[in-house]
Amino acid sequence: MKCDKCNNKAIEHIRYSGAHLCAEHFTEFLEERAKKEIRGIKGRAAVALSGGKDSTALLHFACDKIEEVIAITLNEGIKGYRDESIKIAADNCRALGIEHVIVDLKKEIGFSIDDIFSLYEKRGIKHAECSFCGVMRRYYINKVAKGMDVDYLLFAHNLDDMAQTALMNITHNDLARGLPPYSGRVFVKRIAPFKWIPEREVAIYCFVKGINCHIAECPYARVAERNRYRSAVNILEKGTPGARHGIVKSYDRISKLFCREGEIKRCRECGEPTSREICKRCEMANTLHDLKNSPDFSFSEEV
Ligand code: SF4
Repeated sequence: MKCDKCNNKAIEHIRYSGAHLCAEHFTEFLEERAKKEIRGIKGRAAVALSGGKDSTALLHFACDKIEEVIAITLNEGIKGYRDESIKIAADNCRALGIEHVIVDLKKEIGFSIDDIFSLYEKRGIKHAECSFCGVMRRYYINKVAKGMDVDYLLFAHNLDDMAQTALMNITHNDLARGLPPYSGRVFVKRIAPFKWIPEREVAIYCFVKGINCHIAECPYARVAERNRYRSAVNILEKGTPGARHGIVKSYDRISKLFCREGEIKRCRECGEPTSREICKRCEMANTLHDLKNSPDFSFSEEV
């Protein structure tokens, strides 16, 4: 099959638009959509980098289009997975000549994600590694970015991630939560340049550009609630090409009606911005210490 725009061989059929594109026009199509999301930004940008395909693709895109870029990585402490991806993330930063800050979760709160898994296992409590991981990542990446005078934080959420999160938030009746990257005046401004780009296209982009990235699944992903929503979104997209775009566009419009800026306080323990007395990161860290130290600790699943 030929490319719709030139005589070269097409490498991808874009089902939701019907287009057949060669490597060059595929790259152009992807970058044009991502560029719209970063239009007008000026200053220093930080990429939240894990070393996986999405964030590494974003790092290369950002370094090509934005003048001042740094990378921030949270090492959650997942043996055999994150150690390998951090090595690849560091290699990419070195090759691109950019500053790379790595935050170690165990040093920060005394627990890695592997420790949390063991602790829950010992106490026979329902696992929630991904909830901890997500809260800690948002907290530390924002904190480091603020400390480094970053103007924009770039997250690599793709269209599939966004559609899954939209369905999750609807299911939990939590429209006010918005889609990632969550907004807010006291946080460094967050942008998701790949929000309209399907996961498959990001993978092809990595291949076409020869980007060295970590391809492996986190061992905790198997139990993640998100898997159900991934399957649901895949079924919808297969039957109705363009369903992901429709879900995210509708969600964006609906959630705006519910997103109200609440009162922003400072966390009583760490001083970071929060809508509560104690921020979610401190509450979670306290729960873990209580759980570890008290054999009779009665645990509420609502961490
Ligand atoms: Fe963290 Fe869960 Fe993602 Fe693993 S799958 S990196 S535990 S959020």
